[in-house]
Amino acid sequence: MSKRFKQSLTVIGLGPMGQAMAAAFLDAGHPVTVWNRTASRAEPLVARGAVLAPTAEAALAANELVVLSLTDYRAMYEILRPAAGALAGRTVVNLSSDTPQQARAAADWMAGHGAVHLTGGVQVPPSGIGKPESATFYSGPEEAFLTHRATLEVLTGADYRGVDPGLAALYYQIQMDMFWTGLLGYLHAVALARANGISAGEFLPYATSTMSLMPGFLAFYAPRIDAGDHGGDVDRLAMGVASVEHVLHTVEASGVDRALPAAVLELFRRGMAAGRGADSVTSLIEVIGKAAA
Ligand code: NDP
Repeated sequence: MSKRFKQSLTVIGLGPMGQAMAAAFLDAGHPVTVWNRTASRAEPLVARGAVLAPTAEAALAANELVVLSLTDYRAMYEILRPAAGALAGRTVVNLSSDTPQQARAAADWMAGHGAVHLTGGVQVPPSGIGKPESATFYSGPEEAFLTHRATLEVLTGADYRGVDPGLAALYYQIQMDMFWTGLLGYLHAVALARANGISAGEFLPYATSTMSLMPGFLAFYAPRIDAGDHGGDVDRLAMGVASVEHVLHTVEASGVDRALPAAVLELFRRGMAAGRGADSVTSLIEVIGKAAA
């Protein structure tokens, strides 16, 4: 399809993500205006047909649809505050990561300047941009989302979570909570393997096998968790404590950092102290949830 049939838009923020996004829009035939604090980052995109706006204000003024890809919301305010006069009438799709609280405050701030804020939480690295099987959480006014959905789907699949501008950030942070802890669990295991002469490559099939069990565990536990069923018919926390102690002792004997398994053991022991020894390890959710409250 020719460019004139595709919505023109602005991308502000040309880190690895913003570059991939602007490139995906260009590849799909969208006229793209870009702006970045460090202007030189725009060069490869300009070579592919993007227009480099001289100022952030000009970038906002250029298009109704504005995509932000910045380190965090602090960077957004640093860029947009001095240019706020050009925000009226804009739909700002903020694909920068931050907290739900920040997203809600930004939505209010944008509304105060006559702009609509759509929050986004991109779930893939730059290499996943431009692929429909990738996913991004969105939240904010549904009408704005539906208006721009097809354009946003140039980047990734779009998963609309609801009107609350904090929701996309919330879902994103929940996913990242699991991602970082899970990845660190893997890295810790590799450190333990390497301390014992086993390379990451040798360990790979076993690591993969353990991780591939997880979907089955999640599918089994999720309905029981929702039903408040922490019955110890399949696993018992007391058994888990002994297992984590064995891990910690192996880690200590190998000279590997003990902080991660020690933290796991401390949580398990808090569950025991709360009288959950005969219950499933899922009962730790009650312990964790209470601590957070
Ligand atoms: P970067 O941190 O590399 O993004 C940097 C962008 O923010 C650059 O355009 C940079 O400008 C700009 N920036 C930072 N601080 C300021 C400031 N104070 N004033 C003006 N501009 C500023 O991140 P990515 O490109 O990797 O990612 C963008 C967002 O996407 C982040 O929120 C990230 O968490 C999220 N994300 C990233 C993923 C990834 O794998 N990279 C995966 C999923 C989400 P300059 O070029 O001048 O430094």
